[in-house]
Amino acid sequence: MNDMFLAFLAAPAGNLSASVFWCLIGLVVGSFLNVVIYRIPIMMQRESENYLALENDQPAPHADRYNLVLPGSACTSCGHKLTYTDNIPVLSFVWLKGRCRYCKASLSWRYPTVELLTAILSAVVIWQLGSGIAGVSALLFVWFLIAMSFIDLDTQLLPDELTLPLMWLGLLVNLEGTFVPLRDAVLGAAAGYLSLWLVYWMFRAVTGKEGIGYGDFKLLAALGAWMGWMMLPLIVLLSSAVGATFGIVMIALKRHQRDRPIPFGPFLAAAGLLALLIGHTIIDAWLAYA
Ligand SMILES: [Zn+2]
Repeated sequence: MNDMFLAFLAAPAGNLSASVFWCLIGLVVGSFLNVVIYRIPIMMQRESENYLALENDQPAPHADRYNLVLPGSACTSCGHKLTYTDNIPVLSFVWLKGRCRYCKASLSWRYPTVELLTAILSAVVIWQLGSGIAGVSALLFVWFLIAMSFIDLDTQLLPDELTLPLMWLGLLVNLEGTFVPLRDAVLGAAAGYLSLWLVYWMFRAVTGKEGIGYGDFKLLAALGAWMGWMMLPLIVLLSSAVGATFGIVMIALKRHQRDRPIPFGPFLAAAGLLALLIGHTIIDAWLAYA
């Protein structure tokens, strides 16, 4: 048993059983990420409404407790409390044929999608990095990125509650140089923030519009803290290439109004994940080609 435990916390890269183990943990974490994605924007909204009321000497409109744990999960259509068996990742969705057990309202495909995505990416990370400190901390990194991407898709916001802790975690993880020397991590955080901040102000000076949000600067700062300043050009290049292609396709398909900003967070997150997993391979291949 002890050996098994060690294998899951200290397995080398390419270990199948460690990947499967963390894949299953990923399913459960994905289920929690669904709660994070759904509730954090509501928590922020409630907090700002309470604050406004307080400023105007009015009673707080939301006095009840609402956080990531309380109240327990309930159907968003009928409000019926969900039991343990309604909440099993992916399986409950399949078993209930994608409908609420009580009111039969159809459940969003989003829930099993996030659970499966989290499980698959967790397995990939452990396969690539092993399950030592680097691999397990990279799992935290990926889980944060998944939550942020979906919140950005839903609300066009990247909450400070997620971007800033991800940046601190990156600096802490690199205290002992897990991914890059601490010096490169600190420079990465500062350069990540400043580079998008500059793009923002130049874009605004030229077009009079806001192209990217402050949350994007903080997310790139976090990515710089994890991977060091050397990875920033690759991350910006990858995310802009994918983001621009996606934007052009959406406009061509008339699925998107030109004036509405496209959330950039998911592209930054995807580029960040690629950079973490295969960034050095990409850079080496590019240097060899050049
Ligand atoms: Zn229901």
